[in-house]
Amino acid sequence: MPGSRAPRKPSLSPTKITTFLACPDKFYWTYLSDQGRYYLRSKSYYSFGTTLHGVLQRFHDARDQGVQTVDQAVAALEDSWIEAGYNTPGEMAEAMGEGKVILENYIQKFETTERDATTIMIERQLRRDMGEFTLIGRLDRVDEHADGTIEVIDYKSGRQSVEPSDIEFDIAMNCYMLLLQQGYPERPIRATIIALRSGESASVDLEPARMEQFKEDLSELGRIILNQEWEGRVPEYKDLCSNCDFFPLCQRAGLVVPSQSPAEFDFGG
Ligand code: SF4
Repeated sequence: MPGSRAPRKPSLSPTKITTFLACPDKFYWTYLSDQGRYYLRSKSYYSFGTTLHGVLQRFHDARDQGVQTVDQAVAALEDSWIEAGYNTPGEMAEAMGEGKVILENYIQKFETTERDATTIMIERQLRRDMGEFTLIGRLDRVDEHADGTIEVIDYKSGRQSVEPSDIEFDIAMNCYMLLLQQGYPERPIRATIIALRSGESASVDLEPARMEQFKEDLSELGRIILNQEWEGRVPEYKDLCSNCDFFPLCQRAGLVVPSQSPAEFDFGG
């Protein structure tokens, strides 16, 4: 029909995909149902991570001259602090103290480490057409090295340590490499995780054959997610249920808790 638009292609992000793999019902309540949002509770670790990411984003943004020193980063942390999800003022004060130490260590290490790279993207959303869906990913930071290597860097605010295998088998990191591969097909691509609590980092270089296999697996996984039949689905009990925001919704949808499971549920909402 003249003037009519093709239906918009569904999109999947690493967060959506990992949510589905953890529990399809959680995916449903989070992304497909209007009811789910009323049951979501704030989490302190999300607030903490979001605040730290925001300050690091400003530190690496050459256009932002406001966060260049440890003192400025600490001030930015205080100004942008997200309070949601903390149980007590003491818990929040402890987290803020940890955040300041993390920023201090991060900036000191960054400034005393020799670098051959320039930051070319910060908190950038990239997309790639995967046939039946569009893959969308938001990358914390991308650096371009003197030898042409393009490196995606992901900050993990809750981690003390990281190994290359944590990257090799991480859906998000592989998605980020896949997204970068499209924009930089001739360049070596590297993925790095920085464990902010210790400053440790690990990296993995993209291997074309492995990435091709990942792309196929991702396409298949996307098809499974998009072709799920949600009508009449009965949630199945799993360990995650005991601390899940959606437990009341799943119970109403027929979830049965096995009698021998621990009764330490934390329903909250
Ligand atoms: S309560 Fe259990 S089955 Fe329901 S969404 Fe949460 S983890 Fe999934």
